Amino acid sequence: MRTLIKGGQVIDPGRMNTIADVLIEDGKIQAIDVNLQGTLQDPESVTIIDAQGFIVCPGFIDLHVHFREPGFEYKETIATGVASAVAGGFTTVCCMPNTSPVNDSQSITEFIFRQAKIADKARVFPIGAITKGSKGEELAEIGELHDAGCVAISDDGIPVMNTLVMRRAMEYARTFDLPVIDHCEDMHLSAGGSMNEGFVSTELGIPGIPNAAEEVMVARNIFLAELTQSRLHLPHVSTIGSIRLLRDAKERGLLVTAEACPHHFTLTDEAVRSFDTHAKMNPPLRTDADVQAIKEALKDGSIDIIATDHAPHAMHEKQRQFDNAPFGIIGLETALPLTLNLVEEGVLTMEQAVAKLTCEPARVFKLSYGTLAVGADADVTLFDPKKSWTLDPNRLHSKSRNTPFTGWTMKGKVVKTFVGGRVVYEAE
Ligand SMILES: [Zn+2]
Repeated sequence: MRTLIKGGQVIDPGRMNTIADVLIEDGKIQAIDVNLQGTLQDPESVTIIDAQGFIVCPGFIDLHVHFREPGFEYKETIATGVASAVAGGFTTVCCMPNTSPVNDSQSITEFIFRQAKIADKARVFPIGAITKGSKGEELAEIGELHDAGCVAISDDGIPVMNTLVMRRAMEYARTFDLPVIDHCEDMHLSAGGSMNEGFVSTELGIPGIPNAAEEVMVARNIFLAELTQSRLHLPHVSTIGSIRLLRDAKERGLLVTAEACPHHFTLTDEAVRSFDTHAKMNPPLRTDADVQAIKEALKDGSIDIIATDHAPHAMHEKQRQFDNAPFGIIGLETALPLTLNLVEEGVLTMEQAVAKLTCEPARVFKLSYGTLAVGADADVTLFDPKKSWTLDPNRLHSKSRNTPFTGWTMKGKVVKTFVGGRVVYEAE
């Protein structure tokens, strides 16, 4: 089985950015060169894909998704989750453990791998829980989770409030070289809040969550990462203050990495004025100053990667009063165009944007994907950077429809997604 992707702009960040042909053979990248087609032996046996005008890059990697299986299959299953992933250009996703039961054991991790194998689209790597049942009290069997194939540990959705428990988790994770991801939120400080605390929350009379609720936990976790010399990954960074702390930690050489979500660099708390519960996420949409700080941090590398925090919820759950609706939105199928907006605005170059979705996340979790190196697994995404489309939630592949971007004009669309050399998604 050979496939030639012909004449696209091949972007393999840090390695290549040029018009070339990509030859895939037996699931691996076989060769990349200018006008490779002319040199092919036995050309009749090669499937040729015309990629002129498209970008050809490593398949995207999302280190932060919530596939709701086991337990909440009405929101999303692993099968619908990976269908959404490949439609968004993602070939590898890492799923958070806040399922029911929580992924705090080898048996749940193995179940996730099995379901992903049956679904047979994107690669799925589970993230194990830090504490049993994510209750924040007793450490999960971290060694067992690591042996079963978990690529990181987190109690995401909720923070580990007990600092001693967090210290022990980091010490333990370090022996397995596992990154620790803490959902940074001081639960006492955020209690009762549904949106960012500021002018808008005051005007609307909705209880707010101050920036400090995130920042005090970011600071705590950085101090603990220093104490334990362990790998800390900060998810969904949303405030100026967090970025200040992150810069300082990186300057001091700590093993700290961070992600930003597309909604946090696209929307502000002004989006809540309509009382649209699709503008309710945790951490909440912040102010314009925070958005600008996130963009600068993406540009200068203080924020390493873009991750979606894809968080499906059923319609009936989101159609509640703002205070009672669950936090979170889906994001896998809107991440590319929202990231490309940063290129359009001049915040990132196209190569930087691709890097934030490919080789950078691979580096953060030490995954062997996110590259078009010869011999690598042929996980490849083809996208049309100029294609405009209107977001109709009914046409998304996720089981849920909770997006704040309904009706938006999106620019940039995935054309084809390959995993291990096989086409797993094709645009209509
Ligand atoms: Zn979180």
